[in-house]
Amino acid sequence: MTRAAFTSVRSLVVKVGSALLQEGPAAFQRIADDVASLHRQGVRTTIVSSGAVALGRPKLGLHGGGLTLEQKQAAAAAGQTLLVDAWARAFEPHGLHTAQALITLDVTEVRRRWLNARSTLNTLLDLGAIPVVNENDTVATEEIRYGDNDRLAARVAQLVGADLLVLLSDIDGLYTADPREDPEARKLTDIPEITDDILAMAGEGNAEAGVGTGGMITKLAAAQIAAQSGCATAITHGAHDTPLLKLADARHGSWFSAPSAMRIGRTSWLAGAIDPQGEVRVDAGAGKAVRDGKSLLPVGVIGVSGQFERGDAVLIVSEQGQVIGRGISAYDADDARLIGGQKTDRIEEILGYKRAAALVHADDILLS
Ligand code: GLU
Repeated sequence: MTRAAFTSVRSLVVKVGSALLQEGPAAFQRIADDVASLHRQGVRTTIVSSGAVALGRPKLGLHGGGLTLEQKQAAAAAGQTLLVDAWARAFEPHGLHTAQALITLDVTEVRRRWLNARSTLNTLLDLGAIPVVNENDTVATEEIRYGDNDRLAARVAQLVGADLLVLLSDIDGLYTADPREDPEARKLTDIPEITDDILAMAGEGNAEAGVGTGGMITKLAAAQIAAQSGCATAITHGAHDTPLLKLADARHGSWFSAPSAMRIGRTSWLAGAIDPQGEVRVDAGAGKAVRDGKSLLPVGVIGVSGQFERGDAVLIVSEQGQVIGRGISAYDADDARLIGGQKTDRIEEILGYKRAAALVHADDILLS
């Protein structure tokens, strides 16, 4: 998606950096006002908000100097309540509800957790709420954490299938050199591809030094992750009015396009690396539906073999045994056997619960 397609964005993830929120309620309000007007236009928005550590420090008397990891975790725990409260207040005048989602690295790396998080976030978005996501710093120690919310936001963008990730920062985009040091530095407005030259421009500078953790390098890393799933990224200044709406205008921010062909990458990324744990045999009607890009509903299932868990990859095969594709099962093998051949509205009656209408969602199918 290029900048020209801004008005066709349907799913948006906005990452808000700690540095920006130092200003207090006005910063939250400015962003909430913008998100609310996009919401009225039908844009599903998820916020990834930093700021828990920064807000929690003074609350616990942790002034000055560097903090140990444990102190940061404590500050985050103390600040997170202030953070979500500030977001809730900012959306209140618009009649919009927020919802807190704290996630850890394994949420996006372990498939089953991925599916759980995805259905929770999508349900919140379906219900018109604004999810406010942050890393669960209490349990995220050095080796198992994202560490910066830029990359976390890119993974969340993949999770919700966003078209656009906006990184709101205290710098209005990517410059050819550090603008504080080089008067010749020029801002790049539209970047079709993240090349080595572009990466070199990120340098070592950290626009949020002392407050947040992500610099320009992590922002470009985030843009690269998002692009793998066909999601464009914009880096822009969050301290102006309507920072999101202004992105339609090429004078604002840096826009990293993502070719729409890359959308295919989402499925290959989901199904790619793992071996199918089982096989789901489908009737002709379901086979055609899957080939046409639709979800695999239980009613079309005529046989299930193998032992798989919810979230494992399965082969989808025709009555004749021809492989149609592979996909991620929303139910484990035993439950898939029970609901196979049954109508979706009977799932709950048969299993006592219902996680998804489809056995394999269309987004989780990679055709052969
Ligand atoms: N999770 C951290 C916080 O809320 C932010 C990490 C970052 O600055 O990107 O304070």
